[in-house]
Amino acid sequence: MNNGLVEYREGKSILLVPEESLKSNVPPMQPAFFNPRGAENRDISIIVYQTFYNLVGKNLNFLDILCGVGARGVRVAKETDVAKVYLNDINPNAIYIAKKNAEINNVMEKCMFSNDYAEHFLASSRRDGNYFDIIDVDPFGTPSPFIEDVIRTVKRDGMISLTATDTPVLCGIHERTALRKYYGRSLRTEYCHEIGLRLLYSALAFAAARYDKGIKPIFSHSTRHYLRVYAIITDGAEEGDKCLEEIGYIGHCSICHDRIRLWENSGVCRRCGQKLNVAGPLWVGKIFEKKFVEAMEDTAKKLGFRKYLKMINLAYMEAEGPISYHVVSGVCDRLQITTPSIDKVVERLREKGYFATRTILNSRGVRTDAPVNVIEEILLKLANI
Ligand SMILES: [Zn+2]
Repeated sequence: MNNGLVEYREGKSILLVPEESLKSNVPPMQPAFFNPRGAENRDISIIVYQTFYNLVGKNLNFLDILCGVGARGVRVAKETDVAKVYLNDINPNAIYIAKKNAEINNVMEKCMFSNDYAEHFLASSRRDGNYFDIIDVDPFGTPSPFIEDVIRTVKRDGMISLTATDTPVLCGIHERTALRKYYGRSLRTEYCHEIGLRLLYSALAFAAARYDKGIKPIFSHSTRHYLRVYAIITDGAEEGDKCLEEIGYIGHCSICHDRIRLWENSGVCRRCGQKLNVAGPLWVGKIFEKKFVEAMEDTAKKLGFRKYLKMINLAYMEAEGPISYHVVSGVCDRLQITTPSIDKVVERLREKGYFATRTILNSRGVRTDAPVNVIEEILLKLANI
């Protein structure tokens, strides 16, 4: 079945991938799924997993539960110090190609393959007493149906990473669907990607709490077509209680664009009195772990992923920041003025004593605790109005 497969270089690995997947905007499911646009997603995961290995300092096993052609799993085997990689997919063609990929990258000894339904593989692993240090879920669409099973199959203080490509659901276009898939309402706002990430974390937290576990988010990012979260799963009823305390709501005013963290699912705007649009319940705690992100910088340098240093540094800066960011170009459009340099806006906000930093979630965004009227005043001043 080598017909139709071509060599594709990604990171330090060479991958055999279906030729068609490199040609079309929506990669085909047959003979097996591979998305070349996921390269950045996979690069960052290599940095995160290697950082986790560096911090934990022991043999780790890794499970890619929906492995496709093995792009992530084989790369983890080849490019990190993870000791054992499990690759599972229900598509036999995918497993055939994943094995070939392990062979050509000389990591066959590190890899185990399984051709099974994800849920069945996870349940069988638990039955056999096999648990995993890191489990990755990278589905076509929502990871929601897999969350409970992976929570149950990850080791104590292990890590779960999730990709979600149902961005319209998480980002407020289909808010009712978000309620069904993630138990929280999404909201179409300028910071909808952050709301989406927070819904993913709350879905993880709810599932974890059911099994007397907690979650600790460590790194989050998003692009137009996917959202991605990484969390450590902690053990104990107290951990579950603690993480449920981080579940709340975000209220957004459609009139003056003010936003606020809420503990109830309704409220009125503190500026203009308008009834708030509310997203949630969702995770309102931190979505980056500062020390972990700091360690990622070192890993990225060592692995030669220098192009991600700027992103990692921004995540470090915003790790302790408030909820939500303002898209400066959007505020300027509302004010009908030209958009100034984002760095200048950050500088002015800091001069006034507010928390302010750029954000990895939007290149034109500023994460700040300053009220909208202060941001508007600064922008008008910068535009000499
Ligand atoms: Zn308002």
